[in-house]
Amino acid sequence: MKAASIRRASMDAIVAQAEREFPFECCGFIIGDDSVEDVRPIANIQDRMHAKDPAVFPRDARTAFLMEPKEHLAVMLEADRRKLAIRAVYHSHPDHDAYFSATDRAQACSFDPPAPDYPDIVYIVMSIRAGKFARAAAFAWDFKKKEFAETKLTVE
Ligand SMILES: [Zn+2]
Repeated sequence: MKAASIRRASMDAIVAQAEREFPFECCGFIIGDDSVEDVRPIANIQDRMHAKDPAVFPRDARTAFLMEPKEHLAVMLEADRRKLAIRAVYHSHPDHDAYFSATDRAQACSFDPPAPDYPDIVYIVMSIRAGKFARAAAFAWDFKKKEFAETKLTVE
């Protein structure tokens, strides 16, 4: 199973974003190659969708995230243009533990469930308690078990 390895500067940036956006979930991507690694925060539009259509979007941004689609697409195009890999998708859990929820699993398998959209991408979840970073965990697709499982997260 794929292990997660990200740079200290990236970890610091996503932790700062998660604390700043507390009590709401934050989200974004980490893109890079052997020589460069960049964090690309994405706006969480869950609150906007929840306000517009609470029947379809019963959760608000305290317990869910939905990436702003144009920003999401812009990161995909940037990675493609710069020939960088999508290293990780990250989001935060305000006042909840760093686990990969049923919603997270469903969201990570949106195109052709139950197959993962990006089997080679690592998902990082940060637990933020009372506005302060508590812990991060990484999850990746286990090709043998055909499910997401926690994997090693190395910050260097
Ligand atoms: Zn989650």
